Amino acid sequence: MPDNQKINSILEKANNLEFLTFNECLLLYQHASLSQLLFAANQIRQKIHPNNIVSYIIDRNINLTNVCVSNCLFCNFCRNKNSEQAYVLSIEEYIEKIEHLKSLGGNQILLQGGMNPALDLEYYETLFKKLKKYYPDLKLHALGPPEIAFLAKQEGISTKRCLQILINAGLDSLPGGGAEILSDRVRKLVSPAKVCSEQWLNIMHEAHQLGLTTSATMMYGHLETIEERIEHFLKLRDIQKIKPENSKGFISFTSWSLAGKNTRLLKKYPDIKTVNSTEFLKMLALSRIILINIPNIQVSWLTRGKEIAKLALHGGANDMSSIMIEENVVSQAGKNFKLGVKEMEETIIEAGFIPQLRNQEYEYL
Ligand code: SF4
Repeated sequence: MPDNQKINSILEKANNLEFLTFNECLLLYQHASLSQLLFAANQIRQKIHPNNIVSYIIDRNINLTNVCVSNCLFCNFCRNKNSEQAYVLSIEEYIEKIEHLKSLGGNQILLQGGMNPALDLEYYETLFKKLKKYYPDLKLHALGPPEIAFLAKQEGISTKRCLQILINAGLDSLPGGGAEILSDRVRKLVSPAKVCSEQWLNIMHEAHQLGLTTSATMMYGHLETIEERIEHFLKLRDIQKIKPENSKGFISFTSWSLAGKNTRLLKKYPDIKTVNSTEFLKMLALSRIILINIPNIQVSWLTRGKEIAKLALHGGANDMSSIMIEENVVSQAGKNFKLGVKEMEETIIEAGFIPQLRNQEYEYL
């Protein structure tokens, strides 16, 4: 057990915005108190964002299909192509959803694809071009490394070429979905059909090289070890270190714990324990302390509710992510909080901050 002096010297190093080693991160997880971590994370947040502002965005999740061959064990949303509930959205449905989004003041969609073998690269190219033709100002925050790898493989082209084709068709930024835990041991257990961790990171690096802004995520609280969580942080930090100077790279990091209700993962591994709010806040604070080269830390209020989100704003987070108009994967696994614009702003004010609407590039609007 290290003495408090050792923990304090690691926290001081973090407060000087220096990169911590794996062992230092592990010692913080194992021996620092929650209050020490929250305090340190808040100091770092204040250094990176020396203001009293908490940002948020108005965007809309759209799951363009629920047919997905990935069959991740934590997903209640995907369907077999022969299922009666299988769907692929029509252009009329997009228009209806985007019109609703615009009526609320938003102009970005988070388009989640999944792996539907019936939808090839040309389908996405045509879709992106059509959406941009109808809505030239619309921002497409779409797909993610697993979908890019899936489409590139189907097409027999490199993932970088696939990204370039989608950028030319209108892709504006790449979400960090499908990261779960960037350990192949864990990925084989929870989402075996998805890209391996190296591929996930590689595709993100390629996106950065092509000038795409991306985001980073982590879903923990299932079959990973604490060491694997720390490795995940460090892998993200290392990819961010080598981004081209003129690229924003990972603009944000968001973490959430498994929402596993009725999932095959919990049926197969009934010993998985639900992550409590103390652990959630601890992980959020650690993300701020470790990922000093990723500017924004989002709090996932969707999975924790607004009261815990308010606490997180004092423990490292500077962004409340989006109001939620539609979400399918997490809400079908037992988490279903809702927040409109008014309530979002009230929540931020109640926590003692100034709400600020932003776009996907984190530019204030
Ligand atoms: S989480 Fe996404 S990739 Fe995994 S099965 Fe569900 S829809 Fe497919």
